[in-house]
Amino acid sequence: MSLIEKLIRPEIRQLSAYHVQDATGFIKLDAMENPYTFTDSLKKAWLTVLSDVDVNRYPDPSPETLKQVLREAFGISEQAEILLGNGSDELIQILALALSTNARGEKACVLAPEPGFVMYNMIAKYTNMNYVGVPLHSEDFSLPVEAMLTAIKKHQPAITYIAYPNNPTGNLFNENDIETIIQQASGIVVVDEAYNPFANNNSFMPLLDKYDNLIVMRTVSKMGLAGLRFGYMAGAKAWMAEFDKVRMPYNINALTQASIRFALENKQAFDEQAVILCDERARILQSLNSLQGVQAYPSAANFVLYKISDSVPSDAVSVFEALKDAGILIKNMHKPNSPLENCLRVTVGTPDENTAFLSVMYQLFS
Ligand SMILES: *Cc1c(COP(=O)(O)O)cnc(C)c1O
Repeated sequence: MSLIEKLIRPEIRQLSAYHVQDATGFIKLDAMENPYTFTDSLKKAWLTVLSDVDVNRYPDPSPETLKQVLREAFGISEQAEILLGNGSDELIQILALALSTNARGEKACVLAPEPGFVMYNMIAKYTNMNYVGVPLHSEDFSLPVEAMLTAIKKHQPAITYIAYPNNPTGNLFNENDIETIIQQASGIVVVDEAYNPFANNNSFMPLLDKYDNLIVMRTVSKMGLAGLRFGYMAGAKAWMAEFDKVRMPYNINALTQASIRFALENKQAFDEQAVILCDERARILQSLNSLQGVQAYPSAANFVLYKISDSVPSDAVSVFEALKDAGILIKNMHKPNSPLENCLRVTVGTPDENTAFLSVMYQLFS
């Protein structure tokens, strides 16, 4: 047995590292990024802010002013505590580190509807937790409340994740269904609102004061700051105090802290971009649905999931390749015999990028 086989457990050895498609030269509609960046005048002001950062010093380990800015910008209750992460991926990891083994020394469980965000499952694997996926209703990807409640009863998860809206399906689950799950959960329920800027103010943030086991998680990645790696979660003070103990002391670097403050002082620019992206989302949805053999699902996020019907000669893989040949990169979600069979996911880009994408789709389906 090699040293690696001896020291690294099979669950880790069987993983492959997170794969990112090379996007050089492509119209990039694969990763839910906002296509817009700062305007030239904002860029200038931003650089001035950055030039005042003392990078010889460690960053503020718990930036209270930044948290206050977040509270005001995003309507976070004064009663709730906020924890910052190097992207929400790190927040998911922090939760796993704190909860992986319970007080009785038992391996804890993570539960989430599927198809869902892959990192819930991946990070459970990294931290030696059990993971249970509950299949969404296959016809419309709605939340199977009864199946969720049964699975919660059976597996007693320490964490139940619900992405709202869901990735990769794009839909908002029924709010009352989620509230029922929060009420009957065996542990904490994390409502992951990564796509909140596009979700027409649907949020569980106002319910934080009502439920001690509710945590609302957000990221700035999809709203237009993916490169900064910054997410936050809000919840009851007692929970956050525990999670804060397993956080790396300086997890948010000084340039990111300064940039987030700057960005939120100019939040209007992002709000305006979100309006354009939501209008474009409607255009993409309508255009795709006008094609024979294509079914696009309603979305409250900055992407659209669509399915290639069995009744047409092409399939998702060939559509994906044809788009790629035309210089357009989207995400191939196809997995045989799964709810995402023959599905593709396109991120909403600029109007020109979306037009380029749609014109290839028109060519393929007319
Ligand atoms: C993209 C995404 C995240 C990760 O966001 P980062 O802050 O970039 O790590 C979390 N949850 C969902 C549902 C996402 O789609």
